Amino acid sequence: MAGKAVTAKNRPNRKSGQLEKEAAADLEAHKELALEVIGRLKKEYPEAKCTLEYEKAWQLLVSVRLAAQCTDARVDQITPLLYEKFPDVAALAAAEPEEIEEIVRPCGLGRSKARDISACMRVLHEKYGDHVPEDFEDLLALPGVGRKSANLIMGDVFGKPAIVTDTHCIRLCNLIGLVDQIREPAKVERELWKIIPPEEGNDLCHRFVLHGRAVCIARRPQCGKCCLRDICRHGKETLTYGEAF
Ligand code: SF4
Repeated sequence: MAGKAVTAKNRPNRKSGQLEKEAAADLEAHKELALEVIGRLKKEYPEAKCTLEYEKAWQLLVSVRLAAQCTDARVDQITPLLYEKFPDVAALAAAEPEEIEEIVRPCGLGRSKARDISACMRVLHEKYGDHVPEDFEDLLALPGVGRKSANLIMGDVFGKPAIVTDTHCIRLCNLIGLVDQIREPAKVERELWKIIPPEEGNDLCHRFVLHGRAVCIARRPQCGKCCLRDICRHGKETLTYGEAF
Protein backbone atom coordinates (compact mmCIF):
# COMPACT_ATOMS: atom_id res chain seq x y z
CA MET A 1 0.00 0.00 0.00
CA ALA A 2 1.36 3.33 -0.98
CA GLY A 3 2.38 5.61 1.92
CA LYS A 4 0.87 8.96 2.49
CA ALA A 5 2.31 11.54 0.11
CA VAL A 6 4.62 14.08 1.73
CA THR A 7 3.29 17.54 1.11
CA ALA A 8 4.41 20.98 2.23
CA LYS A 9 1.76 20.73 4.96
CA ASN A 10 2.69 17.37 6.53
CA ARG A 11 6.47 17.50 5.92
CA PRO A 12 8.24 17.15 9.28
CA ASN A 13 9.52 20.48 10.49
CA ARG A 14 13.24 19.75 10.58
CA LYS A 15 14.04 23.03 12.25
CA SER A 16 11.71 22.56 15.21
CA GLY A 17 12.76 18.90 15.56
CA GLN A 18 16.37 19.97 15.70
CA LEU A 19 15.58 22.63 18.29
CA GLU A 20 13.80 20.06 20.45
CA LYS A 21 16.80 17.73 20.25
CA GLU A 22 19.14 20.53 21.22
CA ALA A 23 16.91 21.53 24.14
CA ALA A 24 16.81 17.91 25.38
CA ALA A 25 20.61 17.61 25.10
CA ASP A 26 21.01 20.91 26.92
CA LEU A 27 18.74 19.73 29.73
CA GLU A 28 20.71 16.48 30.08
CA ALA A 29 23.99 18.41 30.18
CA HIS A 30 22.62 20.65 32.94
CA LYS A 31 21.42 17.60 34.89
CA GLU A 32 24.84 15.98 34.63
CA LEU A 33 26.53 19.17 35.74
CA ALA A 34 24.12 19.48 38.68
CA LEU A 35 24.90 15.91 39.83
CA GLU A 36 28.64 16.59 39.64
CA VAL A 37 28.26 19.83 41.60
CA ILE A 38 26.14 18.06 44.24
CA GLY A 39 28.72 15.29 44.64
CA ARG A 40 31.68 17.62 44.95
CA LEU A 41 30.01 20.03 47.37
CA LYS A 42 28.90 17.08 49.52
CA LYS A 43 32.52 16.07 49.90
CA GLU A 44 33.58 19.64 50.60
CA TYR A 45 30.82 20.38 53.09
CA PRO A 46 29.62 17.08 54.57
CA GLU A 47 27.36 18.85 57.01
CA ALA A 48 24.69 20.89 55.24
CA LYS A 49 22.61 22.81 57.68
CA CYS A 50 20.88 26.10 58.04
CA THR A 51 23.14 28.84 59.39
CA LEU A 52 20.26 30.38 61.34
CA GLU A 53 19.86 29.02 64.86
CA TYR A 54 16.45 27.78 65.96
CA GLU A 55 14.86 25.08 68.04
CA LYS A 56 11.26 25.27 66.93
CA ALA A 57 9.67 25.73 63.53
CA TRP A 58 8.08 29.08 64.40
CA GLN A 59 11.49 30.37 65.48
CA LEU A 60 12.86 29.66 62.01
CA LEU A 61 10.00 31.69 60.56
CA VAL A 62 10.98 34.59 62.82
CA SER A 63 14.69 34.25 62.02
CA VAL A 64 14.24 34.06 58.29
CA ARG A 65 12.15 37.24 58.31
CA LEU A 66 14.80 39.01 60.39
CA ALA A 67 17.54 37.79 58.05
CA ALA A 68 16.33 39.94 55.14
CA GLN A 69 19.16 42.38 54.39
CA CYS A 70 20.89 41.33 57.61
CA THR A 71 23.57 38.78 58.43
CA ASP A 72 22.63 35.44 59.98
CA ALA A 73 25.17 36.09 62.75
CA ARG A 74 23.36 39.30 63.76
CA VAL A 75 19.99 37.53 63.68
CA ASP A 76 21.37 34.75 65.89
CA GLN A 77 22.48 37.41 68.40
CA ILE A 78 19.08 39.07 68.52
CA THR A 79 16.67 36.13 68.60
CA PRO A 80 17.67 34.90 72.12
CA LEU A 81 16.75 38.36 73.43
CA LEU A 82 13.43 38.20 71.64
CA TYR A 83 12.61 34.72 72.96
CA GLU A 84 13.62 35.66 76.47
CA LYS A 85 10.83 38.23 76.51
CA PHE A 86 8.40 36.36 74.22
CA PRO A 87 9.06 32.63 74.66
CA ASP A 88 6.33 31.21 72.44
CA VAL A 89 3.93 31.89 69.60
CA ALA A 90 1.17 33.01 71.97
CA ALA A 91 3.43 35.54 73.68
CA LEU A 92 4.62 37.00 70.36
CA ALA A 93 1.04 37.07 69.05
CA ALA A 94 -0.05 39.03 72.12
CA ALA A 95 2.83 41.51 71.87
CA GLU A 96 2.41 44.89 70.25
CA PRO A 97 4.54 45.26 67.08
CA GLU A 98 6.33 48.19 68.76
CA GLU A 99 7.52 45.90 71.57
CA ILE A 100 8.94 43.47 69.01
CA GLU A 101 10.48 46.32 67.04
CA GLU A 102 12.37 47.55 70.09
CA ILE A 103 14.27 44.25 70.21
CA VAL A 104 14.70 43.47 66.52
CA ARG A 105 15.72 46.99 65.42
CA PRO A 106 19.46 46.07 65.17
CA CYS A 107 18.55 43.69 62.31
CA GLY A 108 17.44 46.67 60.21
CA LEU A 109 13.99 47.40 58.76
CA GLY A 110 12.75 47.02 62.34
CA ARG A 111 9.26 48.36 61.81
CA SER A 112 8.28 46.21 58.86
CA LYS A 113 9.96 43.09 60.27
CA ALA A 114 8.21 43.55 63.63
CA ARG A 115 4.89 44.13 61.87
CA ASP A 116 5.28 40.94 59.81
CA ILE A 117 6.42 38.84 62.77
CA SER A 118 3.50 40.07 64.83
CA ALA A 119 0.98 39.41 62.04
CA CYS A 120 2.49 36.01 61.27
CA MET A 121 2.45 34.86 64.91
CA ARG A 122 -1.15 36.03 65.24
CA VAL A 123 -2.17 33.86 62.28
CA LEU A 124 -0.26 30.86 63.70
CA HIS A 125 -1.96 31.41 67.05
CA GLU A 126 -5.47 31.97 65.77
CA LYS A 127 -5.57 29.63 62.77
CA TYR A 128 -3.03 26.87 63.41
CA GLY A 129 -3.03 26.34 67.19
CA ASP A 130 0.49 27.80 67.50
CA HIS A 131 1.89 25.34 64.94
CA VAL A 132 3.54 26.05 61.61
CA PRO A 133 1.48 24.65 58.70
CA GLU A 134 3.10 21.86 56.69
CA ASP A 135 1.62 22.94 53.37
CA PHE A 136 3.63 25.13 50.99
CA GLU A 137 0.66 27.29 49.92
CA ASP A 138 -0.42 27.78 53.56
CA LEU A 139 3.11 28.87 54.41
CA LEU A 140 3.17 31.28 51.48
CA ALA A 141 -0.07 32.85 52.71
CA LEU A 142 1.50 33.78 56.08
CA PRO A 143 2.39 37.47 56.48
CA GLY A 144 6.00 38.20 55.55
CA VAL A 145 6.63 34.70 54.17
CA GLY A 146 7.86 34.44 50.57
CA ARG A 147 8.93 31.46 48.48
CA LYS A 148 12.43 31.47 49.94
CA SER A 149 11.18 31.24 53.54
CA ALA A 150 8.45 28.74 52.67
CA ASN A 151 10.97 26.49 50.92
CA LEU A 152 13.36 26.74 53.84
CA ILE A 153 10.65 25.65 56.26
CA MET A 154 9.52 22.80 53.97
CA GLY A 155 13.08 21.51 53.64
CA ASP A 156 14.57 22.10 57.06
CA VAL A 157 11.57 21.60 59.30
CA PHE A 158 9.49 19.08 57.41
CA GLY A 159 12.22 17.31 55.42
CA LYS A 160 10.38 17.80 52.12
CA PRO A 161 11.88 18.65 48.72
CA ALA A 162 12.80 22.32 48.66
CA ILE A 163 14.95 24.79 46.77
CA VAL A 164 15.89 27.99 48.56
CA THR A 165 16.97 30.57 46.00
CA ASP A 166 18.80 33.13 48.09
CA THR A 167 21.51 35.44 46.78
CA HIS A 168 24.27 32.81 47.14
CA CYS A 169 22.25 30.20 45.26
CA ILE A 170 21.38 32.59 42.42
CA ARG A 171 24.93 33.90 42.09
CA LEU A 172 26.59 30.48 42.16
CA CYS A 173 24.10 28.87 39.79
CA ASN A 174 24.74 31.59 37.21
CA LEU A 175 28.52 31.42 37.62
CA ILE A 176 28.64 27.63 37.50
CA GLY A 177 26.30 27.50 34.52
CA LEU A 178 23.40 25.64 36.10
CA VAL A 179 21.20 28.50 34.92
CA ASP A 180 21.89 31.02 32.21
CA GLN A 181 21.69 34.69 33.15
CA ILE A 182 18.60 34.31 35.33
CA ARG A 183 18.41 36.50 38.41
CA GLU A 184 14.78 36.32 39.44
CA PRO A 185 14.47 33.90 42.40
CA ALA A 186 11.25 32.21 41.26
CA LYS A 187 12.67 31.62 37.75
CA VAL A 188 15.94 30.21 39.11
CA GLU A 189 13.90 27.93 41.37
CA ARG A 190 11.85 26.75 38.39
CA GLU A 191 14.97 25.96 36.35
CA LEU A 192 16.64 24.14 39.24
CA TRP A 193 13.61 21.93 39.82
CA LYS A 194 14.13 20.62 36.26
CA ILE A 195 17.72 19.51 36.83
CA ILE A 196 18.19 18.72 40.54
CA PRO A 197 16.90 15.52 42.14
CA PRO A 198 14.16 16.79 44.49
CA GLU A 199 15.67 15.14 47.57
CA GLU A 200 18.99 16.94 47.00
CA GLY A 201 17.67 20.49 46.63
CA ASN A 202 17.53 21.61 50.24
CA ASP A 203 21.01 20.45 51.22
CA LEU A 204 22.50 21.72 47.98
CA CYS A 205 21.20 25.21 48.74
CA HIS A 206 22.75 25.11 52.22
CA ARG A 207 26.03 24.07 50.61
CA PHE A 208 25.78 26.93 48.11
CA VAL A 209 25.62 29.29 51.10
CA LEU A 210 28.67 27.67 52.72
CA HIS A 211 30.60 27.69 49.43
CA GLY A 212 29.51 31.26 48.68
CA ARG A 213 30.90 32.41 52.00
CA ALA A 214 34.10 30.38 52.02
CA VAL A 215 35.26 30.28 48.40
CA CYS A 216 32.91 31.69 45.78
CA ILE A 217 32.77 35.03 47.50
CA ALA A 218 30.68 37.76 45.87
CA ARG A 219 32.79 40.06 43.66
CA ARG A 220 35.99 38.06 44.34
CA PRO A 221 35.39 34.34 43.78
CA GLN A 222 38.49 32.34 44.73
CA CYS A 223 38.43 30.13 41.63
CA GLY A 224 42.01 28.96 42.17
CA LYS A 225 40.94 27.25 45.41
CA CYS A 226 37.60 25.96 44.20
CA CYS A 227 36.65 22.29 43.95
CA LEU A 228 34.30 23.13 41.06
CA ARG A 229 36.73 25.03 38.90
CA ASP A 230 37.10 22.51 36.08
CA ILE A 231 33.33 22.16 35.69
CA CYS A 232 32.23 25.72 36.51
CA ARG A 233 31.53 27.97 33.53
CA HIS A 234 33.17 31.00 35.12
CA GLY A 235 35.96 28.93 36.65
CA LYS A 236 36.87 27.44 33.27
CA GLU A 237 37.02 30.91 31.74
CA THR A 238 39.58 31.93 34.35
CA LEU A 239 41.85 28.89 33.80
CA THR A 240 45.20 29.89 32.38
CA TYR A 241 46.66 27.99 29.41
CA GLY A 242 49.06 26.13 31.69
CA GLU A 243 46.29 25.05 34.05
CA ALA A 244 44.01 23.92 31.27
CA PHE A 245 46.55 21.68 29.50
S1 SF4 B 1 35.18 28.15 40.07
FE1 SF4 B 1 35.10 30.26 40.77
S2 SF4 B 1 33.13 31.06 40.03
FE2 SF4 B 1 33.05 28.84 39.90
S3 SF4 B 1 32.09 28.20 41.82
FE3 SF4 B 1 34.28 28.12 42.11
S4 SF4 B 1 34.84 30.10 42.97
FE4 SF4 B 1 32.79 30.29 42.09
